[in-house]
Amino acid sequence: MTLPDEPLSVEQVRGEVRDWLAARFDERDPQIDDDRTDIIGRTPAGHDAYVAAAREFQRSLAEAGFAQVDLPLESGGRGLTRSHVDAIDEEIARFDTPSLRPLAIGMNLAKAVLLTAGSEEQRERYLPALSRADEQWCQLFSEPDSGSDLASLRTSAVRDGRGWRVSGQKVWSSYAADADYGMILARTDPTAAPPQAGLTMFVLPMDSPGVSVQPLVDMAGGRHFNQVFLDDVALDDGAVLGEVGQGWAVSTGILSTERSGYMGGSGGGRRYRQVRAAAEAAGRLDHPLVRQRIVSVLTDELILEWLRDRFVSGALLDGNPAAGSMMKVKAGSLEQRSAEFVVEVLGAAALAWDATDIDGDIAAHALAASRQARIAGGTHEIQRNLLGERVLGLPREPRNHPASFSPGP
Ligand SMILES: Cc1cc2nc3c(=O)[nH]c(=O)nc-3n(C[C@H](O)[C@H](O)[C@H](O)COP(=O)(O)OP(=O)(O)OC[C@H]3O[C@@H](n4cnc5c(N)ncnc54)[C@H](O)[C@@H]3O)c2cc1C
Repeated sequence: MTLPDEPLSVEQVRGEVRDWLAARFDERDPQIDDDRTDIIGRTPAGHDAYVAAAREFQRSLAEAGFAQVDLPLESGGRGLTRSHVDAIDEEIARFDTPSLRPLAIGMNLAKAVLLTAGSEEQRERYLPALSRADEQWCQLFSEPDSGSDLASLRTSAVRDGRGWRVSGQKVWSSYAADADYGMILARTDPTAAPPQAGLTMFVLPMDSPGVSVQPLVDMAGGRHFNQVFLDDVALDDGAVLGEVGQGWAVSTGILSTERSGYMGGSGGGRRYRQVRAAAEAAGRLDHPLVRQRIVSVLTDELILEWLRDRFVSGALLDGNPAAGSMMKVKAGSLEQRSAEFVVEVLGAAALAWDATDIDGDIAAHALAASRQARIAGGTHEIQRNLLGERVLGLPREPRNHPASFSPGP
């Protein structure tokens, strides 16, 4: 009788990936601002190289067997657990590797939706290529008049023989100009009540005739946002993700993953390292009030790490999808608070007054960029409404007032 192979322990995988990284990259200097690569990469001049480096690094991880290891073997993974993935991510964070941020939508959200709502054929077709970064994904939900009120979106998908014709406009679509595929939410039944029941999720090949993408530059100088125009784009029935009319449920799953995962994440001590390094650079590490604030950042990062473990195991708020909102509010507030603290403690040195003053430039950019954390994936006001209604059981907002909204997924 053949005994089954011993399952690979988390520590074995951690050791393997650490050796692999150590042979290729320097250890990250804890004093160096972890955001530097991301901020430079988001500038119009740095964008293309930033995205290309992310794809190349992901590809090398896949070749070495360290990409998406929790996917089943047939989808390009190793059938390991979420804890193995976390250990790999923690090790990557210790080395000076290219940032994987441009791939986050595919690696987190598209992966989650394909696993939960995708057909077997869709999983086989898309997951291995996603895992190797041969194909990049974007998320096409928000529209010019439908952000918080996502259920009011107007992009339509109209039946056409055995397929669909999609027309409309999306906005704030991160990395859409770089993506090969988008997860697009469109209205397939304009008469359905409530409006959520008329929505369907599709896979959209971004090179389809009728799709045009226009980059937008954000207030921090980043170029990852886009507007996407859809002019009578043809999709076949195989593009439907989940069931027709079930797009709202599919998007709810994605947004909960988004809020709890890469947006609600603990950051692996990143913010603590940043505020501590800033206080040290300013010569104020001994000041009791400065120390108190550094410790409060560290404390919140640890709390987020524990919340995340509870979320992943389904224990946080007993698996209520609003648990993602709880983590998002905590992580987004911490992001902004720590960026503000860095600027405060550095004082004039944090102002981007001199093009050669790279540290000042980074701190000022990080402050501007930190505002995004309160908006992306649903604003904090909306998350608090969700927590009030779905966790605390407070009365719902009035629905029929002209200024009312559907609270988003
Ligand atoms: C960094 C970043 C990345 C993003 N990436 C993507 C992406 O890849 N794909 C995508 O589809 N979208 C993306 N978005 C868009 C994001 O989801 C929306 O910006 C967000 O949902 C808010 O919508 P809105 O901008 O239309 O603001 P609005 O909905 O117009 O809200 C404006 C203000 O009013 C407040 N408000 C609205 N309704 C209420 C209410 N009922 N009660 C209290 N306050 C309320 C809001 O909190 C906000 O402060 C991204 C946004 C950011 C910042």
